[in-house]
Amino acid sequence: MADMEWIAAQEAKIPHGAVRTRFAPSPTGYMHVGNLRTALYTYLIARHFGGTFILRIEDTDQGRLVEGAVDVIYKTLRECGLEHDEGPDVGGPVAPYVQTERKPFYKKYAEWLVERGHAYYCFCDKAESEEATGEFDRGDDPCRSLTPEETAQKLAAGLPYVIRQRIPHEGSTTFHDESYGDITVENATLDDQVLIKRDGLPTYNFANVIDDHMMGITHVVRGSEYLSSAPKYNLLYEGFGWPIPKYVHCAPVMRDQHNKMSKRHGDPSYEDLIAQGFLSEAVVNYIALLGWSPAGELAEQEIFTKDELVDAFELSGISKSPAIFDIEKLRHFNSVYIRAMAPEKFAAVAEPFIRQAVKNPAYDAAAIAGILQQRTEVLTEIPEKIDFFDALPEYDAELYVHKKSKTDLPGSLETLKKVQEAFAALTDWRDEQILGVMTGLAEAEGAKNARIMWPVRIALAGKAVTPGGAVEIARILGRDEALRRIRAGIEKLEAAL
Ligand code: GLU
Repeated sequence: MADMEWIAAQEAKIPHGAVRTRFAPSPTGYMHVGNLRTALYTYLIARHFGGTFILRIEDTDQGRLVEGAVDVIYKTLRECGLEHDEGPDVGGPVAPYVQTERKPFYKKYAEWLVERGHAYYCFCDKAESEEATGEFDRGDDPCRSLTPEETAQKLAAGLPYVIRQRIPHEGSTTFHDESYGDITVENATLDDQVLIKRDGLPTYNFANVIDDHMMGITHVVRGSEYLSSAPKYNLLYEGFGWPIPKYVHCAPVMRDQHNKMSKRHGDPSYEDLIAQGFLSEAVVNYIALLGWSPAGELAEQEIFTKDELVDAFELSGISKSPAIFDIEKLRHFNSVYIRAMAPEKFAAVAEPFIRQAVKNPAYDAAAIAGILQQRTEVLTEIPEKIDFFDALPEYDAELYVHKKSKTDLPGSLETLKKVQEAFAALTDWRDEQILGVMTGLAEAEGAKNARIMWPVRIALAGKAVTPGGAVEIARILGRDEALRRIRAGIEKLEAAL
């Protein structure tokens, strides 16, 4: 007998009236880009409608459990600014929010569904694999037509059982998806799926319907791989007499035209992207546009803060065509975010990368961050850009020859000698003074600044491409080191001539 008192008490807890969405990840140990996008859309719908964003952990698949995996979920949501209003850690009116902690609930609802005629106890010992191969036709399952008395007898005898959904043999089921529209399937193509397994645990397909209902979920956002299960979910809702939530199935995120992104095939997860030097904000902004596009006057806009996304996000903007993940595009987004950061904030995120290459504490990390900020796409490219600070690299004298700056070997030697003298006489080692020395020299010689600055920068850095120019690099190196490197340049040129 179903425990109707208990069920009524659960039903009374369900919040009604406002939008409630849930992100329901399985703890796999990493955040797939597609999952993060689901989390984001789920969050945006809740915030856009002034509703509630819920985190539910779907851990019924015990075989897939990974140590510390739930922490990865919390950490990712926190870093991406997708703070949840209800969840295992913050609680809420429909706790618990972890599926394994909800185990007793599913059985009770399944018993009720049996009484309502939409599920049945099945005592067959046919293995699931026989169903999968089609050798056993569920339509002919003898347990489907057991009388309540026969069922009760078998239960009393302690026979092991599963509880199956009773799918009508006739007719069809139509469900509506916000992006895919109406989809109709013949009921005869749907199987009497297991709802409660022999061990008493629910199947995923049953648990998520019960949880979505018990948690008052109004919008179910999930990957399109669940589209084919949606008719069975509808039949469950109808079997219980419950309202059906809005479905928002999202097309997969692809690595190319034909293949989904996949961690197994080496595509990056969210954590991988962060390790590769991408900023959370840039990743969030970029993935928002992988499968959703803004409407009207925002149609061309690409850069959105999270609050702007909340305002602009409409369900009608979600696309049913798969989007391709383009790492080059993400690099572009990342550089836009890096350039827009407050200098102190950039210095803070860049410092660990700066210190990978620059170990000498005399060189100020914030000053080096200053020359990097406008020239960095991803944080991981920082170390190789500034590898010349700790030690002047071995370089070829030919670097002094630069057509565009109109420099050659003898001219460069001349310049370095003059700059050496002027630098040595400087009392103040600041940008303005350092620059003044070089522009003064250029003016005196009737030359463009580049003819002076090029050889100085080569002498200071030993490489043709550097973040920052001669002035900033000289300032950061300090006068003694700058003079030492200029002297080394003079010796190199003398030897080459
Ligand atoms: N736990 C499922 C997953 O991680 C979520 C499916 C759903 O949102 O309903 O794929």
